[in-house]
This record gives sequence, C-alpha cells and structure tokens, in this order.
Amino acid sequence: MVNAIFEELKAKDHLPSPKGLALKIIQLTLKEDVTTQEITHAIKTDPALSGRLIKMANVLMSYQTRPIASITDAVMSLGLSIVRNVVLGLSLVEGSRDGACRKFNYQNFWSQSLLVAIAAKNFIEGRRMGAAEEMFILGLLAQVGSLGLATAYPQEYSLILDKTAAGNTDTILIDLERTEFGLDHNQLTKEMLANWGLPQVFHIAALYHENPALSDLAEGNRNWHVLNILHIANRFAKTCLSHGQQRHKMLSQLMINAARLGLEADTFSELGDKTVQEWREWSKLFGIRSTEMPSFKEILQDTPPNELEILDDGAPEISLETCYPLRILLVEDDYATTMVLKLLLTKAGHTVATAGDGVEALSMLDKFMPQLIITDWHMPKMNGIEFCKALRCNELWRNIHVFVMLTQENLVRLEEIFKVGASDYLTKPVNSNVLGARLHVTQCMVQLQDELKVEHLQLRNIAAQLAASNQRLQQMALTDVLTELPNRRHANDYLEQQWAVAERSGRPLSCMMVDVDFFKKVNDTYGHKVGDDVLKQVAQILRSSARKQDLVCRFGGEEFLVICPDALADQIYPYAERLRQNVAMGDTQLGTRVTISIGVASKSSALLNAEMLLQLADKRLYKAKEMGRNITVWN
Ligand code: GH3
Ligand code: MG
Ligand code: MG
Ligand code: MG
Repeated sequence: MVNAIFEELKAKDHLPSPKGLALKIIQLTLKEDVTTQEITHAIKTDPALSGRLIKMANVLMSYQTRPIASITDAVMSLGLSIVRNVVLGLSLVEGSRDGACRKFNYQNFWSQSLLVAIAAKNFIEGRRMGAAEEMFILGLLAQVGSLGLATAYPQEYSLILDKTAAGNTDTILIDLERTEFGLDHNQLTKEMLANWGLPQVFHIAALYHENPALSDLAEGNRNWHVLNILHIANRFAKTCLSHGQQRHKMLSQLMINAARLGLEADTFSELGDKTVQEWREWSKLFGIRSTEMPSFKEILQDTPPNELEILDDGAPEISLETCYPLRILLVEDDYATTMVLKLLLTKAGHTVATAGDGVEALSMLDKFMPQLIITDWHMPKMNGIEFCKALRCNELWRNIHVFVMLTQENLVRLEEIFKVGASDYLTKPVNSNVLGARLHVTQCMVQLQDELKVEHLQLRNIAAQLAASNQRLQQMALTDVLTELPNRRHANDYLEQQWAVAERSGRPLSCMMVDVDFFKKVNDTYGHKVGDDVLKQVAQILRSSARKQDLVCRFGGEEFLVICPDALADQIYPYAERLRQNVAMGDTQLGTRVTISIGVASKSSALLNAEMLLQLADKRLYKAKEMGRNITVWN
C-alpha cells in the first residue's frame, strides 16, 4: 500500500526532489571510483551554483593571499569532500527554502537536517569507520519524507502538525500521518531514497532511525552501525535544538546511546562541540538559521547525567539465560560506558558494583568479593594491565575471572593482557551477544568452582570429625572405663617410652606395683558393686597423692602401676609410703579399712629392659604380701 501511495504521489509530481546537479552529485558520491575531475566537471555544468561555490570558497579560505577563481581552485583548496557537501546542501536548500505548508518550518527543517548530516559524518569518523561522505548525505536526507508530506499535502499536514505541536512525540505524529495519508514520513523517506537510486542500507537506516529497535539488523554489523549512528545524529540534533531541562534530559540518554556505539563521553563531547561549530559555519554559508548553545563539557559539568534519568528504550539485551548470577565489578573511567554495561548486566540478573579506575577497584575487592571483573584497558591512575598485575599478586584474588576491554583488537595487546593473567577480552563497543556468550562460559566456570569449594569444605569437615573421633577412640583404647585411669596398654607403652628416655639421658626411672589387700573379701562381703566403688576410690586417692609428672595406671583387676620418671631410688620409698598411708587413711565408708601393698623398683644397670623393671617391682609386691600386707618393699 505504501508503495502504491508513493507511486501516485510521484506520478502527480507532488514530491520535492534533488534535481539536476544535486542528484548527479549524490550519484557520483556513491560511485566507488569517483574522481576529482568527474565532480568538478559536474559542478561546472551549473554556472549559478559554481558562482556561489567560488564565493563561498573565498569566504572559507579568506586567509589565503591568492583569491580562488575557479571550481578547480575551490576543489584544490577546500578538498573534494567539502565542495561536494556544500554543493549538495546548496542545491537542496535552494530547491525548498519555503513552501505552502503553513505549519511546516522549512528553515528549521534544513537547519536540523544539516545538523544531522554533520553529526552523522563526524560520529562515523569518530568510530573510524570511514564512509563519512555517505553518512553526510544520509543525514541530510533522512527526514526528507517530512518535507515530502508538507509538499504533497500542505493543508492536511498543517493540521496534523498543529495537533502534535503541544506534546510532540514521534509516535503520535507517525500514527496521525498513517491515518491521514496511508504512510508516515519515515516510510515516505524510504521510498524517496529508493526512487533516487540510493543504496539499500540508506533505506533501512532512514526507515528505522527514529526507533532502531524495530529493525531486525544483527547488533554490531555494518548496517546496524549506520542505522544507529544516524539515530544518534538525529537525537543529537533534537537535543541541540531543545532547551534547558529538556535538553539536559535528552543529553543523558544520548550519551548512553552513544556509548553503546563505542563513542565514550569525552570523545562524544568533543565531536559534539566540533559538530555544532561546523553547523554554525555551514548554516551561515547556506543562509539558514542555527542557534547558540553552551559547549557539551559545560552542560555536563553543570549537572552530569543521572542514572535514574536513563530510560531503557529498546536497548540490546543479553539474550542468553543467566544460569548462575554473578557478582561483577565493573572498572571503567567512562561513565556513559559504565552505565550502559551496568544496565545490561543488571538486567541479565547479575549484581554489579562499579569503580572508576584500578586503584578504586582494588580497594573494593575485599568487601564486594567479585566473581568476575570487567575492566577497561585505558584508565587514569592505574590502567587495566597494572590492575591485572596487582590483582594476580594477591593469593586471595588469583581466582577471580577478569575480562579486559580493548578499543580495538590488537594482537600485541592481547598477548599482554593474557600474560598478566586476564581470563578473556572484549572489544569496545561491547556487543551484547558476545558479552552474553563470554558470561555464559564464566558462569559455568564459577558455578563449578563454587561447587568444588563446597565439596572441599565438606571434605575438610569430615576429615576434622574423623580426626576428633580417632582421638576419642584412641583415648578410649588407652583408658580404663571404671577408674578413668590410663589402662595397662597405656602403662606398658608409657613405661617403654620412659625407659628409652632414661636410657638416652641417663636420668633415673622408678615404678611402684600396687595391689589392694584382701580385695576378694570386700567383694565377698559387700558385693561387686561396692568393690567397684572401692577400686574407684583407691584410684582417686592414688591419683591425687601422686606427683604431677607421674603416671598412675590401672594395671589389672585390683592392681595399679605408678610410673615415676626422674624419681631416684632413695626418694621412691618415702613417696610410696605416702601413697600407702593415704589409702590406708582414706575413708571408704565401709566397716573395715582398705589397704594396699607396694613393690618398688628403680632402673639400674642390672636391669636390661622395662619388662625386668616390672618383674622386679612385682617380685617385691609379692614379698610385701608375704610379709603381712599394708607395707612397701623396696629391696
Ligand atoms: P591379696 O591381698 O592377696 O591381694 O588378696 P586379694 O583377695 O586382694 O587377691 P585375689 O587375687 O585373690 O583377689 C582379687 C579379687 O579382685 C578377685 C576379683 O574378683 C576381684 N576383682 C578383680 N577386678 C575387679 C573389678 O573390676 N571389680 C571388682 N569388684 N572386683 C574385682
Ligand atoms: Mg577508558
Ligand atoms: Mg592382685
Ligand atoms: Mg589383692
């Protein structure tokens, strides 16, 4: 339908069109192998325009001593591209400086179109993507459909413009245009550009430049860039032409959109100022209006963009599902790029913290504990490489994944970033699909790392529990349950050990073999339970009467062994006697007294091993029993 309406308008000759020279210049510009001669030759065919161009060249090059007298001179002095753009501008503006549509501001239309054209040219140059001349033409013609509607339907379009003047938004205007004419200004632009034989990428860019999200171009390819640069240039022009708060709000959003294309805030401000400056010069030459405005640096310094003001208008998103949300630290000095990435990552479900340089980032690591760091290469104070180095020096930060962002893929730099321990890299402007894919890999790796950490922790816990229960078991294996004294096995081990120490050091070692007297009678008279209590009591008295450094063990049924390292033979007898008396005096709460007999032995050259020491003590215990019990025998 759009096509049919366009054919009808065309047939009635109701549309403006670059005629003669302008059309010729457009076509020549789009030719790949165009020569200077061809362009100068074409310009010369229009004497009136040639005259104006020469005049203009003399104004532009007023500092030259020799006046410019011919088109060839003008091309030589100004350069082919400026001449071409001037001619194109002049002939288009001349053709429709005014018209019948009352509400259509023809002056503003060309003023704005010129601003879009210069912005588009400068922005694509800023991205070092070439084809600046094509962008200029695209910018100049991108809104030509509006002029077309004003020319074809002067009265009707006036009414529509009246209606939208108050709360003028692009979508309301487009709806009204479609209802009234069957096609909107963007659709008409597309048809007109196609009709003039301009390349297809221009049609798509013109059709979608007010809302790039509607196009299905793949993010990052050349056509996508052309479309988005035109979009930015158009918004740039609207921003410049608005005022006060409104301008400021639009600027915040514009900076974000520019950063998405890799035009960082500083570059963008510079290009913006350059564009406004050129626009003012060119407007003078074309005899159209331009406005005064402060520099972008001044506007931004007054009130820098506020994160809350950033609208999320169909920006690219990370398409891959977030399987494992990460804590991501974003290290970037450009605030527009920071906001773009923060928005992208937060929307994908990650937790994002930001730092303006490496030094700030390092100070945040311990608290934020990022699993992934995305850092810029170019930063003040500490660049990406130095930051990576510092990061990898610290044991705790070694395992953090790091992506370094580069402006251009550069093999030497890539080698360098991997050498200092980066995990991966991203090229600016960051493509959301590429970022999504890289993030997906990192998420899987972090998830694995986390699972391993948990497993490792569990294993460590189990090992600690095992060690504790082993210790308990060992304790149990060496302790007598009834008296809680070391048992016979412990006694034997300890005695062997002390024997070896004494052998080596030549220090003394003694032991006492203790046996409860007539214990069978206690059991027989009072029962086994009371017998047990008596054993416990004897054990307790022995333990509390013995020296700290000596080991009191339960050696058998009602037998105890006291191992006394460092006890000399002549000290051991009074010591044993003390133990015996303490037991004898102990209150057992039985009708009768409980006594013990003790056999004492000390290490001497006659004894060859611990076993012989025990046998000697045992022999003397036996002697004590024979001698009537409740005594100590020491020889
Ligand atoms: P002697 O003065 O000659 O040592 O006489 P005795 O009765 O103490 O010696 P004997 O070897 O004849 O008896 C020891 C008794 O100790 C026999 C046994 O039932 C008792 N006995 C051994 N272990 C335990 C125990 O753990 N609890 C109790 N209640 N009795 C025990
Ligand atoms: Mg930077
Ligand atoms: Mg006994
Ligand atoms: Mg006994």
